[in-house]
Amino acid sequence: MRLPAIGALVLLLAATSASAQVTLVTNAAPPPRVDVIPSDAWLCRQVAGDLDESTLLGQAILARYDRSPAHDLIDRVQFRRGDRHLGEAIAAFAADGTGGVIYVSDSTDGGTLLHEATHAMMLRLTPDDAEREITRLMAADSAGQIDADVVDLARRSFTLSFAASADPQLWGLVPMVLTSAVFSDNSNAGTLARLVHATDSAAVQLEGNVSKGWGRATVADAYDDAAAAHWRYAGIARPEWWTWQEERTFRLIGEAVAYERAKRCVAGN
Ligand SMILES: [Zn+2]
Repeated sequence: MRLPAIGALVLLLAATSASAQVTLVTNAAPPPRVDVIPSDAWLCRQVAGDLDESTLLGQAILARYDRSPAHDLIDRVQFRRGDRHLGEAIAAFAADGTGGVIYVSDSTDGGTLLHEATHAMMLRLTPDDAEREITRLMAADSAGQIDADVVDLARRSFTLSFAASADPQLWGLVPMVLTSAVFSDNSNAGTLARLVHATDSAAVQLEGNVSKGWGRATVADAYDDAAAAHWRYAGIARPEWWTWQEERTFRLIGEAVAYERAKRCVAGN
């Protein structure tokens, strides 16, 4: 999930154009000649004005960045208008069976599409690679090696999706609980480790947005369901050791990876 820049209110605008004639729109210089292979930064700085353009730009980004094991994301991932799927986000990725969907607003930039494409890729990683990514990011965070703005954006995106896993009656409360738990923790842990710690207890106490049919279900149960959907999408049997906690932590570090990649791409490095 990607959030708008602070202060920006992103509205879902009028219907997309049905025109088959699709061009990528650039805000600055005229587009390069068609025989020139665009740079990564050029792709990430493009702005797509409707769903057709978002699909073309998103597919170009998937084709270029797909590091998933089978390199088949371009066939597996669809682009749809976000509408009610987005909430406060400007774009979101959701696993849908063995495929995935990137939900976009009417106007979307390449950096945002790379952010969501990163989620689409990471959820296809093998269990060992996923665990390695968790270890790598948690270590980088505790060593202060991740940019503070990236950590903060990851914290906010994760907190919102954690809240969305809770009973709707708690939606207003959960972000406050997590945020204050993170900032009142006076250990030397990094922000990501603090969030893991805060959610370890919160997730098993707070009622979730799923019904298990046997009564009370928690946010931890919602992450357990998300884990099942994740491994179905990956096409890999869920490892026994992959509990709701691994899923929670993997979703959290996934936000940091996605924001970092998009930031680097837009900056051209
Ligand atoms: Zn995200």
